Amino acid sequence: MNDPGPRFWEIFFEVYESLPRQGPGNRDCAAKALRLCVDLPSAPKILDLGCGVGGQTLQLAEMTPGSILAIDSHAPSIERLMARLAEHDLSRRVQAQVGDMAHLTLSPQSFDLIWSEGALYNIGIAHALRVCHGLLRPGGYLAFTDAVWRRDDPPPEIKASFDLDYPTMGTAADVVMAIQQGGFELVGRFTLPDEAWWDDFYSPMELRISELRGKYGKDVEALAILDQIALEPEMHRKYSDFYAYEFFVARRPESKG
Ligand code: SAM
Repeated sequence: MNDPGPRFWEIFFEVYESLPRQGPGNRDCAAKALRLCVDLPSAPKILDLGCGVGGQTLQLAEMTPGSILAIDSHAPSIERLMARLAEHDLSRRVQAQVGDMAHLTLSPQSFDLIWSEGALYNIGIAHALRVCHGLLRPGGYLAFTDAVWRRDDPPPEIKASFDLDYPTMGTAADVVMAIQQGGFELVGRFTLPDEAWWDDFYSPMELRISELRGKYGKDVEALAILDQIALEPEMHRKYSDFYAYEFFVARRPESKG
């Protein structure tokens, strides 16, 4: 993707960092995926990769008494998450760190559960699955979401839009195949409902864009950037039949013998 330039990124983050989540997802879906991870230890060790500002991290912390290490490569998101952890008195049980999931220096086989909503694709799903397989103990779970095509005839406008950010995006069946080829067993999967796109993501995004239109008043460049960012929820209104976010829950098999 051509770099749209520093002004774009400044305004992009001004929109995105203020949202409860930086991608589709909600508490009900996280709870449903967590229920698929049967027989976790009573206080599991959890790694949340590409945590953003920690929407799902805080929900996981409510839903399990385990310890969580949340990692994201974007330092301002980690700063926001650290502030929220302090507010909720969670800083001892939940750690937040800046890091690149492709270059982690964590001990092998040291997690019971790896969670990642909308982030693994950034380093390629096959690569991410290798990383996760190495970090999970045998019998440990990987729960992640990924964008998938639902139909093989997407209109050129939506195809071109995903081609910019996720050119290798496949179908849910392609991801299942990658999971199995990566040495995992598929435990379950489900499609995120439409409210998981809107409640914590696109509705607050549209609200934030409209606030910033007020803030930027006559700044034509900033307004054009906001128009560009606003296209994403608009595209979703038009084309959501053609793609989805899928939750996948997979398990590293127990060691034999
Ligand atoms: N999981 C969060 C959520 O659902 O709200 C954030 C999802 S957002 C779509 C993807 C996140 O992955 C961003 O916060 C981005 O900074 C992070 N990310 C991208 N590449 C990364 C990498 N190589 N290592 C760690 N985080 C990364």
